Amino acid sequence: MDNTFKPETLCVQGGWQPKNGEPRVLPIYQSTTFKYETSEQMAKLFDLEESGYFYTRLQNPTNDAVANKIAALEGGTSAILTSSGQAANFFAIFNICEAGDHVVSASSIYGGTFNLLGVTLKKLGIECTFVDQDASEEEISAAFHPNTKAMFGETLSNPGVMVLDIEKFARIAHEHGVPLIIDNTFATPINCRPFEWGADIVTHSTTKYMDGHATCVGGCVVDSGNFDWEANAEKYPGLCQPDPSYHGLTYTKAFGKNAYITKITSQLMRDLGAIQAPQNAFLLNLGLETLHLRMPQHCKNALAVAHWLKQCDKVAWVRYPDLEDDPYHELAKKYLPKGSCGVLSFGLKGGRDVAIRFMDHLKLAAIVTHVADARTSVLHPASHTHRQLSDEQLKEAGVAPDLIRFSVGIENADDIIADIEQALNQ
Ligand SMILES: *Cc1c(COP(=O)(O)O)cnc(C)c1O
Repeated sequence: MDNTFKPETLCVQGGWQPKNGEPRVLPIYQSTTFKYETSEQMAKLFDLEESGYFYTRLQNPTNDAVANKIAALEGGTSAILTSSGQAANFFAIFNICEAGDHVVSASSIYGGTFNLLGVTLKKLGIECTFVDQDASEEEISAAFHPNTKAMFGETLSNPGVMVLDIEKFARIAHEHGVPLIIDNTFATPINCRPFEWGADIVTHSTTKYMDGHATCVGGCVVDSGNFDWEANAEKYPGLCQPDPSYHGLTYTKAFGKNAYITKITSQLMRDLGAIQAPQNAFLLNLGLETLHLRMPQHCKNALAVAHWLKQCDKVAWVRYPDLEDDPYHELAKKYLPKGSCGVLSFGLKGGRDVAIRFMDHLKLAAIVTHVADARTSVLHPASHTHRQLSDEQLKEAGVAPDLIRFSVGIENADDIIADIEQALNQ
């Protein structure tokens, strides 16, 4: 399909274009394996000489259709679905980093990714320096070393909804000859397309708005095809030098703009697994078909809730980038002109304990370890998702101890506000 179609068209019809007599709806290829007539044909697939399906741990047609839809929405060249958002971020980084390498990341990121970068990757010999994303270019540049291989940040940080200056990050990354990886989960390509601002690789937890109905955990890695690996060949031997585990094939030479994603498929999926189940890819695709309708409603409702909280005398503070006096409003206007997302955060007068009691009295908004789906939900990161972090790390991650993360759904905004009001009155 023509990937120059508008986002609404890509949401509905991208990725799967049935030929004559084929199903109108993307089928679930519920098969681990694929049949070939000759041994020779199968051998060519193993040598990556021909493209085709042979085992679902590497590739599956249902997954590929959905990955292609997301690639088109982001304006990228290729993409792969992963079993979760965590797997997507792990693969995005591990595909170009190995023991002895280093990553620079914004510190205000999702708690799971903060642990992945700061704790788990360290055990594999990959170090990370966390930087204040609002610091000056010089300060952030000082975090780079000769062994730095990637820079990482989130368009909208989870849970602090801080807006990243993507152009600034891209400039710094490119000055140091490394790609910028952006986790675009909260904004989705409906509200921001990081490749247009210089990002090189985009990741998603498709678990959030893309699925949108809280039915399946999943992730995606998308490549813009723009980063010139060969120009920085000494940094990326895995992409630019022959791969002994593939008969000396060199990814950049054999696959050009698809080298990065092909390496994830043929190396990381082969050796580590973490493919998305085709059944989940099917559900994700149903979600994507209405992403362009849901995102504006999330934003409209969240702005109404934010305005109401702002005037409420029981509320100590509200953070939502679409509010005109929000510290991130200027960046939001630039990067998210159609609205940010449905997630906002606020604190109540009385702090932590009042926050917990307020949440227990909500009826329509449910306490769940989830954000960014059709139903309004609420979470106290300091007691839940970010429980493992010290107070110091909480501060670094932009999470105040009294912060309530409120994920505004697509119900009627008046009902959501009425629920908040009754819980505050308890
Ligand atoms: C949820 C989330 C993740 C992790 O995704 P899972 O699908 O839960 O593994 C990563 N990044 C961001 C920004 C998230 O919100």
